[in-house]
Amino acid sequence: YPCAAAVVATGGRSYPATGSTGDGYGFAEACGHRVTRLRPSLVSLDCPNPLCSACAGLTLKNVGIRLYENGRPVYSDFGELLFTHTGVSGPVVLSASAHMRAESAEYALEIDLKPALDRETLDRRVLRDFEERRNKAVKNALDGLLPAALRAPLLAETDIAPETPVNALTRAQRASLVSAMKALRLSSLTPSGFDNAVVTAGGVALSEIDPKTMASKLVPGLYFAGEVLDLDAYTGGFNLQIAFSTGYAAGTAAAAYALDRR
Ligand SMILES: Cc1cc2nc3c(=O)[nH]c(=O)nc-3n(C[C@H](O)[C@H](O)[C@H](O)COP(=O)(O)OP(=O)(O)OC[C@H]3O[C@@H](n4cnc5c(N)ncnc54)[C@H](O)[C@@H]3O)c2cc1C
Repeated sequence: YPCAAAVVATGGRSYPATGSTGDGYGFAEACGHRVTRLRPSLVSLDCPNPLCSACAGLTLKNVGIRLYENGRPVYSDFGELLFTHTGVSGPVVLSASAHMRAESAEYALEIDLKPALDRETLDRRVLRDFEERRNKAVKNALDGLLPAALRAPLLAETDIAPETPVNALTRAQRASLVSAMKALRLSSLTPSGFDNAVVTAGGVALSEIDPKTMASKLVPGLYFAGEVLDLDAYTGGFNLQIAFSTGYAAGTAAAAYALDRR
């Protein structure tokens, strides 16, 4: 279609059910533009730890999380996390996924189930609960501390058999329980893919775009707007704002360019 000016606003590759399948990246490359590596962002994470599927459907409201890339902390947050049949999701997980930028790295999540209590305070709290429930099996003595669905899977992360009577627990076993509650570790996490990602990270390289007009620096009359660009942000309206602002700038500039050439 011959035209005086064109705006590419075809969205990202994520959530193709909405109609955006990533065509714009091909259009950009055909015009000589560089497209940076695409990856799903704001997406749930897959995790092989059976604890996740055992707790599927369980939402934890006020937990702390820390994301590790090859053992190095890269992100921390506080809020709501959801276990799924394949891994973890929920607001803090979606935000964490935005920081999984490396193509091949080991990603792990550490979950602090009791962020309001430091280790010593939590240990005293566990001790108090156990004194009140001294003849119970440990799996039945955690009712004041953990939701029912999480008790047995969490014990499986320690060396404590669920049937162990509370009064037979060693100090070291209690310490391992406190550790599991303060730093439950989920390893080998991977983003679940473009189909379920709220946004696509990566896209048309910004160095080749004029930020005032969204005009291509390579092809006169060509403009880009929205998620097709190498621009993404957290949830909370920021991605929509990116689309609105770049769309307004690109549309205004493209119209002016076309009128100029009449
Ligand atoms: C489930 C979900 C929830 C979201 N929630 C939020 C939120 O709460 N806050 C937030 O900020 N962002 C949110 N986003 C992200 C936000 O919606 C997108 O970043 C934003 O819509 C991108 O706008 P866009 O115009 O660039 O692309 P899109 O909105 O994807 O629009 C692209 C359009 O181009 C069309 N198209 C694609 N290829 C072609 C082609 N070859 N020819 C013709 N037309 C084509 C598509 O059909 C589509 O209509 C959410 C996304 C999803 C999927």
